[in-house]
Amino acid sequence: MNATTTPDSTGHFGQFGGMFVPETLMTPLQDLAAAYEQAKADPEFKRELDDLLKNYVGRPTPLYFAERWTEKLGGAKIYLKREDLLHTGAHKINNAIGQILLAKRLGKTRIIAETGAGQHGVATATVCARFGMECVIYMGQVDMERQALNVARMRLMGAEVRSVTAGQATLKEAVSEAMRDWVASVENTHYIIGSALGSHPFPMIVRDFHRVIGIEAREQILEREGKLPNMLVACVGGGSNAIGLFHPFLDDENVRMVGVEAGGDGIIPERHAARFQGGKLGVLQGTKTWLLANDDGQIELTHSVSAGLDYAAIGPEHAFLQEAGRVEYTYATDDEALEGFKDLATTEGIIPALETAHAMAYVLKIAGSLPKSDIIIVNVSGRGDKDMEQAMKYLFKDGNPLE
Ligand SMILES: *Cc1c(COP(=O)(O)O)cnc(C)c1O
Repeated sequence: MNATTTPDSTGHFGQFGGMFVPETLMTPLQDLAAAYEQAKADPEFKRELDDLLKNYVGRPTPLYFAERWTEKLGGAKIYLKREDLLHTGAHKINNAIGQILLAKRLGKTRIIAETGAGQHGVATATVCARFGMECVIYMGQVDMERQALNVARMRLMGAEVRSVTAGQATLKEAVSEAMRDWVASVENTHYIIGSALGSHPFPMIVRDFHRVIGIEAREQILEREGKLPNMLVACVGGGSNAIGLFHPFLDDENVRMVGVEAGGDGIIPERHAARFQGGKLGVLQGTKTWLLANDDGQIELTHSVSAGLDYAAIGPEHAFLQEAGRVEYTYATDDEALEGFKDLATTEGIIPALETAHAMAYVLKIAGSLPKSDIIIVNVSGRGDKDMEQAMKYLFKDGNPLE
């Protein structure tokens, strides 16, 4: 199977993906896939999306040459794709804006979404305000306490945030609750999934709305350097920012791609979220993919300093690209990510999100060993303002930065 033509009509990326959902959701998901195919072929849809991306979301984002960081690391030239400069501060809005336009086409008046750290909830609440749609966000009770500011942002924009208290009261339970709502409300409701995860057609749709990252980066580097990059690097939670950057380069055989998962405290069960390290093949929340589960098939607890990478399953297309050997996957621990966070801030004056900092940690490790003629593009998936409180716990003592 050719990587750039996946998935097939039932959502399979090789042996991964598919539609593992209750019977009641099969028809709406098939309707969504059909509406999406129609929208893709409609110039009016593209015009409206492009206009919003440009004037509301803030595209194109710059491809910035990190001159000082490159000099410091002493190897490959490092370019940063600045998704952190988008409205709401991360790449997630690319998908939220695309999906709300689809919902409008489908005649839906109500939007639901799940959120972990709150970033996808904020992006969804934002586009719902913009389009005057009713918005319900499911969020674990524990996450609501940890991310009170994002809860306030969502509420300010008119969203209802519903607390989920089942199980660990975090993202996995919020997804289950949103699915339950959708089964009962699908008549008037669209579910905006926040990453390249879940049942077909979501992994494909979310990927396609993020492909703009890679399409722009490809044009920008060709214009700037007259050649393609040698390596692309992105952090991988569900995998949406990574697949958005990687996908337009998949046919370029000489472009190496590296996805960086959350290594937490190291690869110890329940202390990380690196699905390709110690994970197994299974089905979770609609899709067949690599996930972290124990020998009885129970989903394991995960841990990461960054809430956005802290999820037990990876998007099915990444599972496919890993099996095909097209993309390499590695991980950065919490400590390594914090080093990347600090290094980018002090060297370039750019504070990345803690999720993004995992990709920076890999660049920190690899750039110096690559020839100066090489080019790396790393995706800055989001900005780190939201993470300052968390970072201060680790990087500051008595209000002063640690050495
Ligand atoms: C949510 C988030 C991620 C992880 O999600 P992906 O779908 O893997 O991209 C990464 N970076 C930031 C800034 C995020 O908010």
